[in-house]
Amino acid sequence: MNSLLIATNNKGKVKELQELLKDTDLELVTPADINLILDVEENGSTYAENAGKKAIAFAAASGLISLADDSGLEVAVLDGAPGLYSARYSPKPGANDADRRAFLLQNLRGKPHPWKARFHATIAIATPAGDVEFAEGNCFGEVIPEERGTGGFGYDPVFFIPELNQTMAELDMEQKNRRSHRALAVMNAIPILKKIFLGG
Ligand code: IMP
Repeated sequence: MNSLLIATNNKGKVKELQELLKDTDLELVTPADINLILDVEENGSTYAENAGKKAIAFAAASGLISLADDSGLEVAVLDGAPGLYSARYSPKPGANDADRRAFLLQNLRGKPHPWKARFHATIAIATPAGDVEFAEGNCFGEVIPEERGTGGFGYDPVFFIPELNQTMAELDMEQKNRRSHRALAVMNAIPILKKIFLGG
C-alpha cells in the first residue's frame, strides 16, 4: 500500500486534506497514527520555504512520503498581512483562532471597504531522501467585520465570498473543498503524487 503522511498538526487542515485526498487510493497517515510528535519552526520567508521545511522534516522523521501545507490570509489594505504570520497573528500569549480574528478586525477598523483578501496555500511533497515538489492554490474574497458561520477553522468566519454570499465558515466541508485555496493546491498536487507513487 502506498502511504502518504499528512504532515501537519493543525486539526482543521488534517480533516480537509483527508477529505481532499480520499479518492487517491493512497493510505493517508497522520502524525498521531504513527505517534510522531514534531513541531517544525516556520521561520522561512516564503510559503514554499515553510511548506518544504515541514514536508522534509516529517518525511525524514517518518520514512514516509509527506505532504505539508503552508497557508495564510492576505488582506490588501494591510499590505498582505497577516500572510505568512497568519497562524501567529496576535500579541496575546496562547492566542487561539478567535483571538487572531479579533486582532485582524481591530487592525482593519477604520480602513476603507471592501477589505479585499485572498487565502493562499502552498503544498510541498517531500520524499524521505529530501526531494521536494510544490503546488499552489488561491481563493479570493473579502474580510467582513462580523463573524458568520461555525464551520471550517482559522479566519473562515470573517472570510466572505461575494459570489456565494457566504463566508467560508458557512460552507459545509464539501462546498469549502470545492473552491478553497487548499483544494486548488491539492488539485495541482495530484500529478506530482501520481509521478512520485506511480512513476509516471
Ligand atoms: P500555517 O500554514 O501552519 O502557517 O498556518 C496557516 C494559518 O493561516 C492557519 O493557522 C489559519 O490561521 C490561516 N488559514 C490557513 N488556511 C485557512 C483556511 O482554510 N481557513 C481559515 N484560516 C486559514
